[in-house]
Amino acid sequence: MRIPLVAGNWKMNKTVEEARSLVANMGRELDDIPRVEKVLCPPYMALMAVSAMLEGLEIGLGAQDMHWEGVGAFTGAVSPRMVAELCGYVILGHSERRTYFGETDQTVNRKVLAAHAHDLTPIVCVGETLSQYEAGETIQVVGRQVREGLTGLDPSFAPRLIVAYEPVWAIGTGRASSGDNAQAVHHDVIRPELAGLFGMETAQAIRVLYGGSVTGSNAAEFFAQPDIDGALVGGASLKKDDFLAIMRAAAI
Ligand code: PEP
Repeated sequence: MRIPLVAGNWKMNKTVEEARSLVANMGRELDDIPRVEKVLCPPYMALMAVSAMLEGLEIGLGAQDMHWEGVGAFTGAVSPRMVAELCGYVILGHSERRTYFGETDQTVNRKVLAAHAHDLTPIVCVGETLSQYEAGETIQVVGRQVREGLTGLDPSFAPRLIVAYEPVWAIGTGRASSGDNAQAVHHDVIRPELAGLFGMETAQAIRVLYGGSVTGSNAAEFFAQPDIDGALVGGASLKKDDFLAIMRAAAI
């Protein structure tokens, strides 16, 4: 049985004070929802403040990215050692990192291996762009991102891994995929690729999330699918009622 996980990716939203106020507003109610693993991923600057507020609550904390090196001359970067001081999770390979910051399957892979080395749970994002979707390339693109992003990962760590299928055309557009379409990618592409890397039994233990315009109204359609184990939520994670509704829909 895979425990569902819902993570809120706040992206570049919320100052420290705004982050405090959002968590003060929804933290307790979030904590009260049973049987779902809950993760908040605020911007780096707010991690310390949010971490202090989550003390005593069963809500995990994640960073939105990190460098692969533990320490060194990488101006502006944040290392896995720093992330691991405050967080248990880290989002890697988000499509916005791939599109705007030159992230490749190879850099994602280095970061995934670094997450293992620093005992962080990586939430690894994969997904095709609109033009790739329209060209019928979803299987090839997502398959390659899974294979190359996760290559060399120790199979004993693999059950900790979380993969998020996020079709780029669905992110922040209000045009979510359908439950059936996302299920097909999870079942026919991602899980077989995971089985190729780590074996069938381990592949069945890895949680695969859906992300892309998930809201309180459409979340249940995704969570009803047998291979969808939760959601990575952007915009709706900034709205208390929507985020709580998504969490409740995920609770088994
Ligand atoms: C995301 O940023 O990972 C995401 C899925 O965004 P949204 O929910 O806003 O589409």
